Amino acid sequence: MSTSVTDQTAISTALGRVRATFAAGTTRPRSWRAAQLTAMRTMLLTHSTEFEQALHSDLRKSPVEAQLAEIGSSIAEIDHTLRRLRGWMRPSRVRTPMSLFPATARIVPEPLGVVLIIAPWNYPLQLSISPMIGALAAGNTVVLKPSELAPATSALLARLLPAYLDAQAVTVVEGGVEETTYLLTQPFDHILYTGNGTVGRIVATAAAEHLTPITLELGGKSPVFVDETTDLAVAARRIAWAKFLNAGQTCVAPDYVLVTEAARQPLLAELTAAITEMFGADPQRGNSYGRIVNQRHFRRLRALLAEGDLVTGGGSDEADLYIEPTVLTGVTGESAVMAEEIFGPILPVLTVAGVGEAISFITARDKPLALYAFTGSAAARDRLLQETSSGALNFGIPMAHTSVSGLPFGGVGASGMGAYHGKFSFDTFTHRKPVLSKPSFPDTMRLLYPPYTDRTLKL
Ligand code: NAD
Repeated sequence: MSTSVTDQTAISTALGRVRATFAAGTTRPRSWRAAQLTAMRTMLLTHSTEFEQALHSDLRKSPVEAQLAEIGSSIAEIDHTLRRLRGWMRPSRVRTPMSLFPATARIVPEPLGVVLIIAPWNYPLQLSISPMIGALAAGNTVVLKPSELAPATSALLARLLPAYLDAQAVTVVEGGVEETTYLLTQPFDHILYTGNGTVGRIVATAAAEHLTPITLELGGKSPVFVDETTDLAVAARRIAWAKFLNAGQTCVAPDYVLVTEAARQPLLAELTAAITEMFGADPQRGNSYGRIVNQRHFRRLRALLAEGDLVTGGGSDEADLYIEPTVLTGVTGESAVMAEEIFGPILPVLTVAGVGEAISFITARDKPLALYAFTGSAAARDRLLQETSSGALNFGIPMAHTSVSGLPFGGVGASGMGAYHGKFSFDTFTHRKPVLSKPSFPDTMRLLYPPYTDRTLKL
């Protein structure tokens, strides 16, 4: 199937509109950029309940989780950006060499143009809004393609964004593979894609045709190392919280645990206790636990439960797209559950002899989006820092790096390329243009011109 001519015409018209707006210079003044961010903030606050409902409809996300991980975090990012925008936009002076004297050199940040943002379904609001904040702050126009797998959030964004923001500069293209495939045939000045690596490769290939720069926010298996020198009750609670948030459908969720033999039994007991403490004896009946996004993902996940020994969980209900928070042992590096990113509420726990074996296990695989460790040993922490590579490395707390606006967020190797959040978003969507100025008088360049003499070299 391909997009109909009508759809293609509508998409092309929208693209022509945002391109013309950029060319007219509308988006360059700081006042325009700040107005967009402020309007986005107003939109999120005014329609907060509708966003909560859309996220509940798409993922059964609890309203509290929607506020914390989608609406509130987006507002925090807007506020962070608004406070610093003037400074970020300011050109910076650079020293010039004596040979050019007198001259001045500056780096002038300029917007790239039209930015395409392709968002996934798991945090369908936040992962649409957060890149937009950077793109608009940097003075670009934006085409947003939300995920078709979160249809309620996608429809709400398509209705509200053009109503609150400058509709000549921001457009939302709803749809799935067909619409995205068509969009990718068009020239953009930057593409930020969030999603899986298979589609990431499709985006990269399409972008290469136009030499469009890309940021790829991908996923992968983020490991957690735990040893007996840490407080295992605290570690278990933090791992369970990060793993089972959004029913495990978080790009930076702990994917699996590598635990030392001495810590294994107590950690498993604490994980079981933490799950009950957080979600009750029957998480399906509570309102703090999400659902799997669709039947395809539900079946993929249920199939992963065929192997291994259940420590807790393992139950499921297809009609409700519910999978219990599950902890598994008895799997190896070769098991199906260890082949690909799990992206669901299943936590395999594997035993390692120590940090050395954990490092060998991790470095034999793709570079993860995040690596987490709970250990009281400074030597083990230092080894993990020096001997592994990952998008981010957190000690003592999974996932929370995403809420630190001063840290770049992104992957490395198979987990992605480029980064954003805070100033890194502004920089991602900005060209840092070198501007060199030299007056005509005095014409010191004459000293460099041919015919060459010994004096020329001494300059
Ligand atoms: P998805 O299925 O919603 O796909 C993402 C986007 O790609 C959607 O907008 C979709 O329409 C588009 N798309 C899908 N197939 C396409 C095709 N053939 N051609 C062009 N476009 C296509 O989301 P997903 O990929 O299932 O998301 C889950 C993955 O995303 C996981 O691997 C997760 O780790 C990763 N992820 C990464 C981050 C991050 O910030 N690094 C955040 C969230 C999710």
